Amino acid sequence: MSTTQENSPQRETMGFQAEVSKLLHLMIHSLYSNPEIFLRELVSNASDAADKLRFEALSQPELLADDPELGIWLDVDSDAGTITLRDNGIGMSRDEVVHNLGTIARSGTAEFLGSLSGDEKKDSQLIGQFGVGFYSAFVVADRVTLESRRAGLSAGEGVRWESEGTGEFTVEAAELAQRGTRITLHLRDSAREFADAWRLRGIINKYAEHIALPVHLRQPAEDKEGAAEAGAYEVINQARALWTCPRSEIKDDEYQAFYKHIAHDFEDALSWSHNKVEGKLEYTSLLYVPGRAPFDLYQRDGVRGLKLYVQRVFIRDDAEQFLPLYLRFIKGVVDSNDLPLNVSRELLQSSEIIDSMKSALTRRSLDMLAKLADDGEAYAKFWAAFGQVLKEGVGEDFANKDKVAKLLRFASSSHGEGAATVALADYVARFREGQDTIYYLTADNYTTARQSPHLEIFRKKGVEVLLLTDRIDEWMMSHLTEFDGRKLQHIGKGEVDLAKIAVAEGESAEPELSEAQSQQAETVVARLQQVLGERVKSVRITNRLSESPTCLVLDAFDPGFQMRQLMEAAGQKLPEVKPILEINPTHRLIDRLASESDEARFADLAQVLLDQAALAEGAQLEDPAAYVQRVQRLLQGL
Ligand code: ADP
Ligand code: MG
Repeated sequence: MSTTQENSPQRETMGFQAEVSKLLHLMIHSLYSNPEIFLRELVSNASDAADKLRFEALSQPELLADDPELGIWLDVDSDAGTITLRDNGIGMSRDEVVHNLGTIARSGTAEFLGSLSGDEKKDSQLIGQFGVGFYSAFVVADRVTLESRRAGLSAGEGVRWESEGTGEFTVEAAELAQRGTRITLHLRDSAREFADAWRLRGIINKYAEHIALPVHLRQPAEDKEGAAEAGAYEVINQARALWTCPRSEIKDDEYQAFYKHIAHDFEDALSWSHNKVEGKLEYTSLLYVPGRAPFDLYQRDGVRGLKLYVQRVFIRDDAEQFLPLYLRFIKGVVDSNDLPLNVSRELLQSSEIIDSMKSALTRRSLDMLAKLADDGEAYAKFWAAFGQVLKEGVGEDFANKDKVAKLLRFASSSHGEGAATVALADYVARFREGQDTIYYLTADNYTTARQSPHLEIFRKKGVEVLLLTDRIDEWMMSHLTEFDGRKLQHIGKGEVDLAKIAVAEGESAEPELSEAQSQQAETVVARLQQVLGERVKSVRITNRLSESPTCLVLDAFDPGFQMRQLMEAAGQKLPEVKPILEINPTHRLIDRLASESDEARFADLAQVLLDQAALAEGAQLEDPAAYVQRVQRLLQGL
């Protein structure tokens, strides 16, 4: 943002922050299919402005005194092609106007813009995720004039802002008789249809029926049918905060409209839960599960939390104290009757009231998700957007661990073709006879997991294995050792014992190891141990392989690859953990090793087998050049 004369009362021209210009351009070009949302955004801002004023007036009642009936007033001039929207909320000072309408202060904006592809269709989806806000006015207007006077400032301290939504805006001082903000949209030719009172009434009904603020619409002069007198203002919405209405009186699309208002989302919510709690504590909550992730879901300082009201007075937008971090995707409102109106940050941080509301709202949210899970398609959408975040709950919410575990979904070796659709309960229901453990495998990606040699014996025995490929999975599973009385086991760690489970139909019987074979294998193990030395913790014979010659396993409590990455990203260095090399005693390569009398060549073979086992896990070799040289030597010796 550049300025020529700081704080001068004259008209001055300023440039938008580069990000704003970019967003404006994108928005105008990607929202043309849904232009009416400008009204929702402006009404939403007016409603926020009224909320803020009510809040400030708690400590300074004089701010409200001269003009206490808060509202929105809409005027249309179809001849001039303008719409004017006025509120008598908090208003803005000159500095606030310049800052709020000239810059985007939200952190992560630059990253967000960087993630845009230039493909309009895709980008318009992302724009919706970012929240379009005030600038959506330029989707329908080629000039926007905003006049504002902050509550508490005098008539002479008003400000007029104007822009054509290109690179610049102007600001100048203005004499304004009333507190609040008036926005005039000079409609584009392509958006002249909005200069129509009936059209606006329809949009307000759709989006603003249940904001807590009356919307007054000036009746068109030529309107004969309208109940109100032509030229007079008529209130066109119910103006009763949605959550204060009884559930039975609220239609689904009203819930959805309210969701869009509070979440700045274009898309519908997946579900909601609206509850009035009475008794020791009294509060109303209205919680929503969004259908898609906001752009800042993984940013530590991203916006989160519920909208907090106390006795219907807005207190703050981002009350994080009512839900644990792993439920940060839940949007909604909580309206308490017990908290004091002047509730402070400190009180929010440590209060018994908050604690018990938090645990109730947490349960409420988890129950809402459990119910959503009955609808496979909707839940799949939820899981794709927020599954990874919910997984944090396994490690962070001890009290609700079982509830969270039930909500988890996994890819599996035998179901869902790679999609994370398998619940732990589904898995248990499919236990093979003799099975008492839930088996899983972690890997970098689905393909690696699917092809892991560790799965061989499980395939043979027809035992399903959950395939976990999110970065957080190994950490999560370290907190989830039991589900519904069943143990969970990583099949790449420790020993696996499937002796009690019969070979699956259509699979060949498990090979019997002859005395000679086991003796030969023992000898190979000893020689491998000798050659590999420090590179492995130990070498041992396994029965988990049928096709592969070798695989790597870890001890039951050793941290795996993902955990290591996670800890290192958090700045912690873990001590080195050496793998155990397991060999398949019935594999032809073991015969080959046993018959190798040239010690140098045996060493090459041993190292190559170890490296290959690591590659099969999706790991990177420490010394790929040495591996290549060995393979080359072996090939030449063929
Ligand atoms: P958001 O509402 O998500 O903060 P907007 O782009 O809609 O983003 O608005 C930007 C900012 O401009 C608001 O946060 C608010 O500070 C200010 N603003 C917009 N409209 C009004 C209004 N009618 N009254 C007072 N302030 C407003
Ligand atoms: Mg807004």
